[in-house]
Amino acid sequence: MQISLSGIAKSFGTTAVLKGVDLTVAAGEFVTLVGPSGCGKSTLLRILAGLERPDGGRVEIDGRDVTAVRPADRNLAMVFQSYALYPHLSVEENMMTPLKLRDLTRLQRLPLVGPLLARQRYRALRRQVRGAAETLKIEDLLSRKPGQLSGGQRQRAALGRAMVRNPVAFLMDEPLSNLDAALRVHMRSELSQLHRRLATTFIYVTHDQAEALTMSDRMAVMMHGAILQLGPPDEIYNSPASVEVARFVGSPA
Ligand code: ADP
Ligand code: MG
Repeated sequence: MQISLSGIAKSFGTTAVLKGVDLTVAAGEFVTLVGPSGCGKSTLLRILAGLERPDGGRVEIDGRDVTAVRPADRNLAMVFQSYALYPHLSVEENMMTPLKLRDLTRLQRLPLVGPLLARQRYRALRRQVRGAAETLKIEDLLSRKPGQLSGGQRQRAALGRAMVRNPVAFLMDEPLSNLDAALRVHMRSELSQLHRRLATTFIYVTHDQAEALTMSDRMAVMMHGAILQLGPPDEIYNSPASVEVARFVGSPA
């Protein structure tokens, strides 16, 4: 699924936070949005997810204008740094997601075949959850509550929940920033592997240029609400388009 943002503008009060951002991401690509804190990365991602409306510009998914479409109808999965797991539900229940459970309830209410269809759907959903849990190596943790998990395990459960939705793209906003340094480095390669395995589009926000360098097919360097340079990491490192880009990518993480 190609994702395309064109002319995205957003202000909060009198502050222009995004100044006409264009970005097209190809199906299956891993693109990072990288830039200093406050440059507008999260706002851009939230607009793509539908959590925020742009003042101007268009969001398209596979050629369809979704600028005014509700988040739930975009089939994108957002993974936050805060994990946002339900503390009172098990990992398995978290992964089944309220959305899916609501579908199930609706199915159950259908006359005659409803309960049978709901049971079949529930079994299929459980298989899917187990499959995602195996991919993420958390299959032994399915009955635990989020409070009984380590940071890395919680991050995997949040990813697993996103996977079960079969999204057209994963949107991640600094998903590793709550982890300690060693785990963060480990999770980088895990995420790269997951990306190759799922062959789904990943759009990944980070302020950490080392993270962007190791994972992305292309990185978009953002500053002050605009993309200053977009390209493969080696291109950006070898020929930064401006002093600002050079200064950012050349600075220690
Ligand atoms: P980043 O993710 O790159 O750190 P953000 O997109 O979160 O940047 O924020 C960009 C700018 O917009 C910041 O100056 C931030 O304070 C401001 N901002 C973000 N969200 C809001 C909001 N809901 N209301 C007012 N200002 C906001
Ligand atoms: Mg942010």
